[in-house]
Amino acid sequence: MCGIVGYLGFSDSKKIILNGLKELEYRGYDSAGITILQDGKFHIFKSVGKLNNLIEKSRSLEINGFSVGIGHTRWATHGKPTEDNAHPHSGEFTHIVHNGIIENYGDLKTDLLYKGYKFSSQTDTEVIVHLFEEILDKHQFNDSDNGSFLAFRDTIGLLHGAYALLLIKRDEPERIYFAKEGSPLIIGTNFETGEQIFASSDSPLIGLVDSVIYLKDGEYGYVEQGLIKILNMSGVVIKPEYKTLPQNKELAQKSGFRYFMEKEIYEQSQVVSDTMLGRIGDKNITFDEISPDIFNGINEIKLCACGTSYHTALASSYLFERIARVRVSVEFGSEFRYKDPILHNDTLFVVISQSGETADTLASLKLAVSAGLKTLAICNVDNSSIVRTADYTILTRAGIEKGVASTKAFATQMVVLYMFSIYLAQIRNIISYSGVEEHLQILREIPNAMTINDRVHEKIKRLSKRYLHGHGFFFIGRDIFYPLALEGALKLKEISYLHSEGYPAGEMKHGPIALADPELFTIALLPKNMLYDKTKSNIEELGARDSTICVISSESVELADDFIEISAHHHYMLEFFEMTTVLQLLAMEIAIRLKNDVDMPRNLAKSVTVE
Ligand code: GLU
Repeated sequence: MCGIVGYLGFSDSKKIILNGLKELEYRGYDSAGITILQDGKFHIFKSVGKLNNLIEKSRSLEINGFSVGIGHTRWATHGKPTEDNAHPHSGEFTHIVHNGIIENYGDLKTDLLYKGYKFSSQTDTEVIVHLFEEILDKHQFNDSDNGSFLAFRDTIGLLHGAYALLLIKRDEPERIYFAKEGSPLIIGTNFETGEQIFASSDSPLIGLVDSVIYLKDGEYGYVEQGLIKILNMSGVVIKPEYKTLPQNKELAQKSGFRYFMEKEIYEQSQVVSDTMLGRIGDKNITFDEISPDIFNGINEIKLCACGTSYHTALASSYLFERIARVRVSVEFGSEFRYKDPILHNDTLFVVISQSGETADTLASLKLAVSAGLKTLAICNVDNSSIVRTADYTILTRAGIEKGVASTKAFATQMVVLYMFSIYLAQIRNIISYSGVEEHLQILREIPNAMTINDRVHEKIKRLSKRYLHGHGFFFIGRDIFYPLALEGALKLKEISYLHSEGYPAGEMKHGPIALADPELFTIALLPKNMLYDKTKSNIEELGARDSTICVISSESVELADDFIEISAHHHYMLEFFEMTTVLQLLAMEIAIRLKNDVDMPRNLAKSVTVE
């Protein structure tokens, strides 16, 4: 979600850590911080906003000789982007940085508060540092034991959730403890100097170390000058697996992918899982950031958004009606603000925006606020204008999205909206326990459904060459697959500049089918678990009129010219999420063949802050 860097050695630790954070800044820039431990003394600096503020603030610190240090650039998940919430977080004699989310921080914090520990932030992270000091204090480890190491092991054993974390301790100035679960963490070693450098991705390490170890989930340990000790959760010592570093920085930032868009498509499985962390329990959905009274006095939901977010709004309207049995309407931000809408205060006004700065959505939100409506924002950027304006916010946890064509923001918004529809069904008491459990199971399977299958990607690469010309594309689907078809068509036009339209499959016969001929490309979404036979008939109608058809389904269709096979799922929402990745890859592979700049398509901007 954001970035961490650690350093141990004789070079200028401050400079190396700040340069490293600069490389990672695109991952999160709510705040940043650094602690250097030199000559038994901690030097700590934190600042809100861009890294340059931290660079300015720490200017006076000079490093001479051996030091250890840890740094962090934050993308807030728990607690506002303030200086108090910035990492490193400290206890009496320990400092830590952390990427990820500690799901059970609430229980741990209650316990620690009861024992008299004082907290200075609202983050989930801070529990780790107090927990570590408490365990170290409580357990009288034998003299022959390495007490800190055992306390560190026991601390991470109590954490649920995702973490990459680094810990330094005042009386062990030659050591950095580390642990990884769910969030990335790499150790780089310079064998000549014995320096050890940690980072969340390759790019901060390039030019500084020869070899790297990509830590695996469940691994933890410590480093010292010229020494690395890694263990797994069963306490078994792991032999380090050294790899050589790619030497191209741009490539390193893209983690070997050709485009940021491709990297972000591949990241979806992880970020949807991050977005669900702490929100799906064994028996229900919870959102710490809202309370069940959000729906008091509400009879209707109005969703409002632009572009890709509009498509998640439209798609989720099917879920709100079907699962939560709530009346829903969906509006384009750019239309809503000028239509002199009739607004009642029994309506929950929900805006969806990746950046939180989309001008049309923000203006619509302000209109709803001034009409006295309760408002909720689904957004990827904390403290953005939309978040500050809405009564309630649920943050998606997509991390920074660099590709202009949105991918992982779409997926995380969809997951939040799906969870929210179940949440509403729960608080309205219109869903059975087994009904909730069934949805929770489906949610748990989404990360898997969004893991890209190499076979599918290869197939899409191959068949993309057939879809470069022609007089246009129709993406078709029914029910919730219709908004997905709209999104597939939007992805394609954004980056390939080919004309494409999304259409309800059953509507083709009411007009557009007149366009059908071999030069009309139909991309058909054919889920096995939603209106299969009906959609199949619509596809056959187009095939009978010679349209060139590519079917995306788990079952092949005789009339189709091409077939992209997805996994056989037991529920249509899993088909929805896997098809999302297929449509994104298809648009990207066609655009690559057309030699377009996939990450920066012409005429577009990432966050549309103008009308
Ligand atoms: N959950 C932690 C926080 O909110 C870490 C977030 C991150 O990965 O940047 O501070």
